Order: sequence, then structure tokens, then C-alpha cells
Amino acid sequence: ALTVEATGLVKRYGRTAAVDGIDLAVGPGVLGLLGPNGAGKTTLLRMLSTVLAPDSGSLRLLGRDPGVPQERVEVRRRLGYLPQNPRLYPSFTPLELVDYVAVLKEHTDVAWRRRECTRVLESVGMGDRMHHRIRTLSGGMQQRVALAAALLGSPELLLLDEPATGLDPEQRLELRSLLATSAQRGTVVLSTHNTGEVAALCHRVAVMREGRVWFLGTPAELIATA
Ligand code: ADP
Ligand code: ADP
Repeated sequence: ALTVEATGLVKRYGRTAAVDGIDLAVGPGVLGLLGPNGAGKTTLLRMLSTVLAPDSGSLRLLGRDPGVPQERVEVRRRLGYLPQNPRLYPSFTPLELVDYVAVLKEHTDVAWRRRECTRVLESVGMGDRMHHRIRTLSGGMQQRVALAAALLGSPELLLLDEPATGLDPEQRLELRSLLATSAQRGTVVLSTHNTGEVAALCHRVAVMREGRVWFLGTPAELIATA
């Protein structure tokens, strides 16, 4: 089954079409969005995360219509999103922050939340800093806290905007194995500038330029066309 089905997606900011007519069908596995700054990767991911509504076109996520409020609530529960510049409350601890996202996703079972929040923070190597204030953590640690929030509840659709930002080489390797695990269960869509990362991580690549997808294929096919 397809996780993302987009047809003719458009999003404009004034005269700029940030996303200018995208058709995309995404199934299980890791899809990488590649492309220069301003290509529309972040705008596309924000639409897929339901935080931004398209101006036109049709979008189905996990078989649901995110334009319908009740369906959007369900879709949000079943997806995880790492924004490009996640706003983490500096006075919260990682545990409080991840638990807050769990509450936003309407997980009401306190014992489940505690277990799940601990699990995702441990999975990104932040288990020993769960009770520190976020403002005292390094940029890479904050990035991993935001990633933990996205992993909450083992989402069927995981959307990551430049997830490797601020991570050191060892943490990037750990990110790869986390993503491989997530891709076994569902779909991962991530944006990156790094072509090497795409080859190592992704089953498919969409190369974006000026709001459009101008290549869609496997990393090997991309290398062959270059
Ligand atoms: P990418 O993630 O590939 O760098 P973006 O989706 O951030 O691309 O941006 C695509 C285009 O839309 C750019 O021209 C950018 O300046 C514009 N844009 C993105 N977000 C906004 C916004 N909130 N207001 C105005 N213009 C925006
Ligand atoms: P905006 O700028 O419009 O508020 P953002 O892309 O910055 O939107 O996202 C808002 C916040 O909501 C982010 O901090 C993000 O972590 C959180 N968020 C929204 N949806 C989800 C989700 N499904 N999973 C995890 N976090 C989410």
C-alpha cells in the first residue's frame, strides 16, 4: 500500500511557487529528497507532515485525507516529523519534551508514555541525559532529542528534514541503523544535501529543483544518469 500519494501539489509564498506541481507515490522504504537550497524540500515535508496545507493538488497520507480534520488527527498520530529547525522548549528536559509530543498525539496512557519516551530517548543515545535541561545540551544532542520525538510510537510514516544536522560521524552511522529499522516497518522520507548519505541510506531518491521533482529513481540510477 502507498503511504504517500500526491498529485499536482502546489504551495506558493507570494509569487514564489515553493512547490510547483509535484506528483509522488511513496511506498515502504527510505526515500531521499535531494536538491539545492530553495528547491522546496522543506515545504514538501511540511505538507506531508500536515503542518502546512497545499494551495492545490491532492494528497493522501496513510490512505487518509489530511484535509479532513478527523482524518488529519489520525494521520498525525501515525506519523513522526523532525522539522528543519525544531523548536525545543529550553527549560524542558528531554523526557518532558518527548512526553509533550506524546500528549499532542493524544496518547493518554501515562505508563505507556513513560516507557515509550524512555525507549525513544535511549534509541538515540540520550537515555543518560533525559532529566537534564534542554538548554544545557549541545546542538547535536538537541537534534537527537527532536529525532526521539519523531520516533515516538514507531510511526508508519517518518519525515525527517536534514536529520544528520549537527551529528558527528559516529552518530550519523547510528542514525543510519535507526532509519533502517524504521524502514522495515514503514516509510521514511528524509531531506539531505549530502549525495553520499543518499547512496548509503535510501532505496529511492527524488531530486528536486525549483519546486519540482526532476528525477525519481534508485541511487544507482541517479549515479548512472549523472
Ligand atoms: P529547501 O528545503 O529545498 O531549501 P524550501 O522549501 O525551504 O526549500 O523553500 C522553497 C522556496 O520557498 C524558497 O524560494 C524559499 O525562499 C521559499 N519559502 C519557503 N518557506 C517560505 C516562507 N515561510 N515564506 C516565504 N517564502 C518561503
Ligand atoms: P510550525 O513552524 O508551523 O509551527 P514546525 O514544522 O516547526 O511547524 O512544527 C511544529 C512542532 O510540532 C515541531 O516542534 C514538531 O516537533 C512538532 N510536531 C508536529 N507534528 C509532529 C509529529 N507528527 N511528530 C512529532 N512532532 C511533531
